[in-house]
Amino acid sequence: MSVHADPPPSVVPEPNGITYITGEQLGKGGFAICHRAEVAERGKATGRIIALKIVKSKMEPAKMAQKFVTELQLHSKLQHPNIVEFYRAFTFGPSTYVVLEVCDNGSLADALKRRKFFTMPEIRRFLIQTCGAVKYLHARQIIHRDLKTGNLFLDSNMNIKVGDFGLAAVMVSKNDVSLRRTTMCGTPNYLAPEILEKGGRGHNEKVDLWAIGIIAYTLAIGKAPFHAPKREDIYKKLQMCDYKWPDPSKTQNDISNDLRDLVATLLVHEDDRPCPDQIVSHTFFKTAFIPETMESSCTSVPPRFP
Ligand code: ADP
Repeated sequence: MSVHADPPPSVVPEPNGITYITGEQLGKGGFAICHRAEVAERGKATGRIIALKIVKSKMEPAKMAQKFVTELQLHSKLQHPNIVEFYRAFTFGPSTYVVLEVCDNGSLADALKRRKFFTMPEIRRFLIQTCGAVKYLHARQIIHRDLKTGNLFLDSNMNIKVGDFGLAAVMVSKNDVSLRRTTMCGTPNYLAPEILEKGGRGHNEKVDLWAIGIIAYTLAIGKAPFHAPKREDIYKKLQMCDYKWPDPSKTQNDISNDLRDLVATLLVHEDDRPCPDQIVSHTFFKTAFIPETMESSCTSVPPRFP
C-alpha cells in the first residue's frame, strides 16, 4: 500500500473496541496522509470527529522513521489549548495511524494562499495564541524547530493549534550540542541564522522566536521576508537580515508601525530576542483591537471587524 492510497473504510485498532470510520481527505504531507474520521463504539457512530493521520509503516529512509518516533514521543505528552491534541497511535494492517484533534479550518498557509494577507487584528490573535503554545513548550525545554504557517492549524473556532512535532527536540542543557541537525529540506525561509552558522548544532529555543518573527511578517505580506527563488539567496539574505517592507502603494494591507517594530525586535541575534511573554507585551498587542471570536469564512475572505 502506498502512502497516499485511500485508507480502508473502517480502521479497527483492536477487536470489540473503538472503530474509526474514515471520511474525506484533509491533506497530505511528505510522509503521511490525513483523513477526517468518525469514532464508532461497539458498532455505533458517536458523532465524534477526529483527524486520522496515516503513516506508512515501513518508512524509508530511516530519517523519516526517526521523525515519526520523535513526533509520537514528544507530542503524546503535550496538552495545551493551542497545540493539536494527540489522542493515540496504533498499527492496523500495513500502516501506522495517529489519532489527532481535527483542525477543520486547515493550516494558516492554506488560508494565506487564499487571503494573500491577514489584517492586523487577525495577526494579533494568531500570534498571541502561537506565543501561548510556544511558552508552554519552552517551559518544558521543548523546541518545536519547525514553526511555520504550514504547521499552524486552525480549529472550527479559528483557534491556532500548533502541530507537526516531527522536528521537535528536548533541550537537556542550554545550547544542547546533542540536538540533531535540523533537516535542511523543505523551506529554508524560517531558518534562524544561528542554525546556518553552527551547522544545525548547539542552537536553542530562540530559533522558535525567530520563526515567530518570520510568521508575523509572512501573515502581513503573504511572502516570507527573505524569500528568494534560490535557496542560497535566502541563506545570504537571512544572514545579513536583509529584508524590506513593501512600499505602502504596493500592498493593500494596512501594516501598522507596531507590527514592523515587533518583527524588527524578533529578527535579531538570538541573545536579543524577546521570549513569548515579552512578545505579547509589545505595543502591537496593547494599543488595538484583538478579535475574541473569528468566523471560518476568514480562511478565504477578509473579516469586517467593528
Ligand atoms: P507531514 O508530517 O507528512 O508533513 P502533516 O502532519 O503536515 O504531515 O499532515 C499532512 C496534512 O494533513 C497537513 O498539511 C494538513 O493539511 C493535514 N492535517 C494534518 N493534521 C491535521 C489535523 N489535526 N487536522 C486537520 N488536518 C490535518
